[in-house]
Amino acid sequence: MKTTFNLFDLNKNGHVSTRELHNILRKLGREWDKSELEELIRRVDTDQNGFIDFDEFIMMMKLQAQGNKTRASVVAGPKKCCLLIIDMQNDFCPPNGSLAVNDGLACLPVINSLRTAAKWDLIACTLDWHPVGHISFHSRFKADPNAVMFKPYTLPTGALQVLWPDHCVQNSKGAELHPQLTKAATDVVVKKGCEVEVDSYSGFLDNDRKTKSDLEPILRKAGITDVFVVGLAYDYCVGSSALDASDIGFRTYVIEDATRGVAPDTTQQMIGVLKMKGVRIVQSSEVPKLVAEPALAVK
Ligand SMILES: [Zn+2]
Repeated sequence: MKTTFNLFDLNKNGHVSTRELHNILRKLGREWDKSELEELIRRVDTDQNGFIDFDEFIMMMKLQAQGNKTRASVVAGPKKCCLLIIDMQNDFCPPNGSLAVNDGLACLPVINSLRTAAKWDLIACTLDWHPVGHISFHSRFKADPNAVMFKPYTLPTGALQVLWPDHCVQNSKGAELHPQLTKAATDVVVKKGCEVEVDSYSGFLDNDRKTKSDLEPILRKAGITDVFVVGLAYDYCVGSSALDASDIGFRTYVIEDATRGVAPDTTQQMIGVLKMKGVRIVQSSEVPKLVAEPALAVK
């Protein structure tokens, strides 16, 4: 119980303030309204000093267990964090990339400093890795007047595919990770979009939602619980990877200043979907604390 108390006592001053209680209950996924919280504190703060000390905390847990207001006890759960760097490849970077994302290089120094700013259990990079004549290349359909660069196009299968300039062709210079991206021998590299007839925005799953990459098994084997997604581009591959990570059960974050989008409207749309699906959008300055703080689990 003392460990649980310490989790609540964020500033380690030996008692739990209203604010600490409110924050921690929010983290547990239950939003308490002010009057409900005040009522709980009124019942347990027997010495009326405005704080919950350890004895009062034990009483609060008992009350909650009896009243089933929330779960009986909170413990530090397992937590392992992965920095997932999406497609930081030459072709997505200005000035020479064939599909350069505006201001795309601005996220490079942020990603590089994130590597050392927090203690990662795993760092993984994805590579967009297309064969010549890939389904996402406008050049493949250029004879068709309905095929417009950067617009959705109806494929013969009926599926919609946004058409892009040729990019990240396997083994080309454009498909290499940017030379200024810090790399390490321990980084895991996962290739996606390798099949000529199907595109893959997400690092986990092709756009046809059928073929999985190696990324999920690699993260599972490493015991990863939390995935922090950065790289290019926010509105496509970063967003799609974060949505899939969240879908398959990882606590998922997008580090907003460590990514850039192709276009403002699609980026706003993606942010809306990410928030709706419970992906947390954070700034790099928040990350060291988020990685270091214990995960909370309920027993
Ligand atoms: Zn691609």
